[in-house]
Amino acid sequence: MTTLVAHDLLEVRNPADNYLLATLDVDGEVAVADAAADLRRAQAAWAESGPQARAQWLRRWRSWILDHTDELTALLQAETGKVRPDALVETTASCEFISHYADNAARYLADESVKPAGPLSLPKRLYTRYSPYPLVGIITPWNFPITLFLMDAAPALAAGCAVLAKPSEETPLASGRLIDGWTEIGAPPVLTQVVGRGDTGAAVVDAADFVQFTGSTATGRRIGVRCAELLKPYSLELGGKDPAIVLEDADLDRAVNGITWGGLFNSGQVCISVERVYVAAPIYDEFVQRLTAKVRGLSQATAVGGDVGAMVTANQVDIADRHVTDAVASGARVLVGGTRAATGNFFAPTVLVDVDHTMTCMTKETFGPTIPVMKVPDEDEAIRLANDSDYALSATVWTRDRARGQRVAARLDAGAVNINDVFSNLFATTLPHNGWKQSGVGARLGGAYGLRKYCRTQAVTVPRVPTLGSELTWYPYS
Ligand code: NAD
Repeated sequence: MTTLVAHDLLEVRNPADNYLLATLDVDGEVAVADAAADLRRAQAAWAESGPQARAQWLRRWRSWILDHTDELTALLQAETGKVRPDALVETTASCEFISHYADNAARYLADESVKPAGPLSLPKRLYTRYSPYPLVGIITPWNFPITLFLMDAAPALAAGCAVLAKPSEETPLASGRLIDGWTEIGAPPVLTQVVGRGDTGAAVVDAADFVQFTGSTATGRRIGVRCAELLKPYSLELGGKDPAIVLEDADLDRAVNGITWGGLFNSGQVCISVERVYVAAPIYDEFVQRLTAKVRGLSQATAVGGDVGAMVTANQVDIADRHVTDAVASGARVLVGGTRAATGNFFAPTVLVDVDHTMTCMTKETFGPTIPVMKVPDEDEAIRLANDSDYALSATVWTRDRARGQRVAARLDAGAVNINDVFSNLFATTLPHNGWKQSGVGARLGGAYGLRKYCRTQAVTVPRVPTLGSELTWYPYS
C-alpha cells in the first residue's frame, strides 16, 4: 500500500456554486489503524451489553437525528446540491432503519434450534447463534451520504459490531455530524468516521473484519480482490442500469409520473434510478408526449421551489453530457433538456427518444437526470432487452394487470422489482435489497438479512443427557 502524505487536506465544496464549505485533514493509514484499535477496545463490552441495551442507544440516536433534522438537511444540501425535499427524505426516512433494527434486533439475533438429521445427532440439542464481527468498515459513495451509511450502520451496531465509517471524499460533512450525534448522546465509543479518498478507504478495508462497500462496480472489484487476498468477508452494493417496462395496459398517468420521479429524483444519481424505459408500441406516442410535457414543467435549482438539483461532481455532469451527445450522434433525438449549465454542476432534465439498445445511454450507468425511451413490439422483447445488461439491481413494471406484472417480475434479472411503483423496495425495511450480476456481491440490506450479514454463524451442539453424546465413536475402537 502507498504511504499517505502527512497533513494531506481535503476541500469540500458546494457543487451548485463551488463555495468552499470545509477543509478537512485526511486520515492516513496510521490514523485509520488508531481509530480501528480504539473501536476494537470498546466493542467487546458493546457486544456483551445485549440487543436491548443497544436498542436504547439506537433510539436515543434516532431522536438526536430528528432533533437535528434542519442542521443535517442543510449540510446535506450544501455538500450534495440536493433540493430540500430530496435532502429531507434522506435525513428523516433513513431513521426508519434505526427504528427497525432497534425494535427487531433481539428477535433476529436469537439462537435458532435446528432439528437433528441423523442418529449421531439425535441425542443432542443443536442450535446456531449469531456472533457479531468485531469491526465493520462501511465505505459509502456521495449520492446518499446519510441513507447509505445508516442502512448498514444501524444493523451493524444493533448486531453488536463496532463501525468504522469512510464516507466519500466529496461528501463527508453530514455523515460526520451524524456521528458526532452518537458521541453527544454519550453512547459507547463504537462508531467513528475517517475522512479521505480511495487510499483511506483501502486502509479501512485492511483494518476491518468485514467490509461493506457501496459504490461503483470498478472500485467494488478492487475491494473484492483485496479482500480475497486477505481472506476477509465483504459485501458489495454496486452500480445499476435499471429498466422500466411500460406495458400497453399501464395506467399512463401513473407510469409517467413514477418514471419521471424515478429517473430524475436526486438528479438521477440513485443506484436504482430508472435508467432506460421500454414502452409497448401501442402506447408509445402517448407516453412520450406526456413524459415530455411532465419533464418540461419541472424547474432546476437548488433554491426553494426547485424540483431537480445539482449533480455532486463535475465528472458526473461530463458522463451525462457524453451519453446524450453519443446518442444524438447515433441518431437519437432530445425532446427536452440535453444541455449542461454554464456554471455549477447542473445537467438539464432530459428525455431522449429514437434510442437503440447499443447506445451507451442504454448500456452504461449514466447516473444523471436523463430518461432514454425505446419502443418495443411486445412484452417478450421488453423482458429480453431489460435482461440484456451486465447490471441487475432493480426494475419497474407498469401494468393494470397485477398478475401479469408479477409474471413479468419473475422473468426479470433484478434484485428487486417494483410493480407500478419506484424505489418502494428500499423503504420497505424488512425486504432485502441486493444486486444481481455486476450490481452486487453478497449484499443484503433490510430485515433479518441485513443484520445477520454482520454476524458469523456459530454451530453449537449440547448433549441432551450429559452422559449421552458421540462417545460410541470414540477410542478405543476395539
Ligand atoms: P466510488 O466507487 O468512486 O467511491 C465509493 C467510495 O469508495 C468512496 O468513499 C471512495 O473514496 C471509496 N474508494 C475509492 N477507491 C477505494 C479503494 N481502492 N478502496 C476502498 N475504498 C475506495 O463510487 P462513487 O462515484 O462515490 O459513487 C457512485 C457509484 O455508487 C455508482 O456507480 C452507483 O451506482 C453506486 N451506488 C450503488 C448503490 C447500491 O446500493 N447498489 C447505491 C448508491 C450508489
